Amino acid sequence: MNPKLILDHSFMNESTPTLNSQQLIAYENKYGAHNYHPLPVVLSKGLGVYVWDVEGKQYYDFLSAYSAINQGHSHTRLVSTLTQQARRLSLTSRAFYNDQLGIYEKYMTEYFGFDMVLPMNSGAEGVETAIKICRKWGYEKKGIPVDEAKIIVCGQNFHGRTVTIISFSSDPDAKGNFGPYTPGFESIEYNNLKALQTILEKEGDRIAGFLVEPIQGEAGVYVPDDNFIPRAAELCRTHNVLFIADEIQTGIARTGALLAVCGDCNCQGHCEQQDTYTKPDILILGKALSGGMYPVSAVLADRRIMDVIRPGQHGSTYGGNPLACAVAMEALEIVKDEHLAQNARRLGHIFRTRMQDLVQKYNIVSSVRGKGLLNAILINDSPDSTTAWDICVALKDNGLLAKPTHGNIIRFAPPLVMTEEQLHECCDIIDKTIKEFTISA
Ligand SMILES: *Cc1c(COP(=O)(O)O)cnc(C)c1O
Repeated sequence: MNPKLILDHSFMNESTPTLNSQQLIAYENKYGAHNYHPLPVVLSKGLGVYVWDVEGKQYYDFLSAYSAINQGHSHTRLVSTLTQQARRLSLTSRAFYNDQLGIYEKYMTEYFGFDMVLPMNSGAEGVETAIKICRKWGYEKKGIPVDEAKIIVCGQNFHGRTVTIISFSSDPDAKGNFGPYTPGFESIEYNNLKALQTILEKEGDRIAGFLVEPIQGEAGVYVPDDNFIPRAAELCRTHNVLFIADEIQTGIARTGALLAVCGDCNCQGHCEQQDTYTKPDILILGKALSGGMYPVSAVLADRRIMDVIRPGQHGSTYGGNPLACAVAMEALEIVKDEHLAQNARRLGHIFRTRMQDLVQKYNIVSSVRGKGLLNAILINDSPDSTTAWDICVALKDNGLLAKPTHGNIIRFAPPLVMTEEQLHECCDIIDKTIKEFTISA
């Protein structure tokens, strides 16, 4: 093969696809496992806040790959970092050192304010890693009798899809017929400090950690009371229990601050001085850590906790590979350089104001909630109805892609590189669609 061809991507961009949307959907239906139920749109190109389908129709992306695309599609700096590093060195495994990992680890720990980082790939692997660190810490540092450690989780959680993680899910689809389940988890109601306090007081000496999403994204963007996260962390500290924040979806500027645990802090990056900041004992990141270029996840903790992991006790062939390290560093630089946290915060206020207007005008929208650019509207119909799905199909026809979650909730999470003008145009599309829908319904 001519090596020049391999490096020339231009042929991929404008050529007419050989198959149309319907044919490509038929392929997925026939040859792929049916583990997703996608909206009927086949995308072939993305740039910034836009994506295009194979027929060339342009859409605003209001899902951002579940908040992996905070930096926008195919950010030129990420494309360039990815391709440059791929040409140089992509994977060594951790059998050897590589010249990106140490630099990345230093960068990550300084960026987020922790002593150490453990690099993984997918979000679920990050959560599994945090669980393993937490349990080991429970036995070796807290002195919990072997095999008796418990981790507290919350109802309606979403932390990924491995057997252990779905063992503590409350979603029957996520869990059904995948047993036997991993023991050692106990669930309390989300946003219920009293429940957390009760269980800590009762079984605190057997509890190693409390694993929680600062905002429950998959459950339908549930924002807890302002004092839930700081008070929960305080309760954990009192009972010598690790406070583990899963910020795979909420982190990296999505909710209008670098992390959701930063609270209403207005600074660019991490700052420990702010009294709004709740420092987790273990922080889990993924998704936007690579700006959608590549699966990169990370678990951060201070030395007193991370030290329990020693050679041979945990790892992954791809974890900490030079390509991932280079891409993640660039993705985080973009977050700073383009002020994505501030933009998410500012646009988030505008968005919720515009959606509140729909709540007043159309009785099919019952409420709006969220933080930064992680928001959802509640459709005034039964969770079993197809109304939210039908609205999403209508939104698609009008040039905006969003997906219902849990029946009657529509999540809106555009890339954080959006401008105010674009946001208003999107709100106009949503308004127009809901209006049409109200009339036709
Ligand atoms: C998406 C997500 C995960 C799982 O990440 P994957 O990369 O899909 O494995 C875990 N926790 C939260 C909060 C998420 O949103």
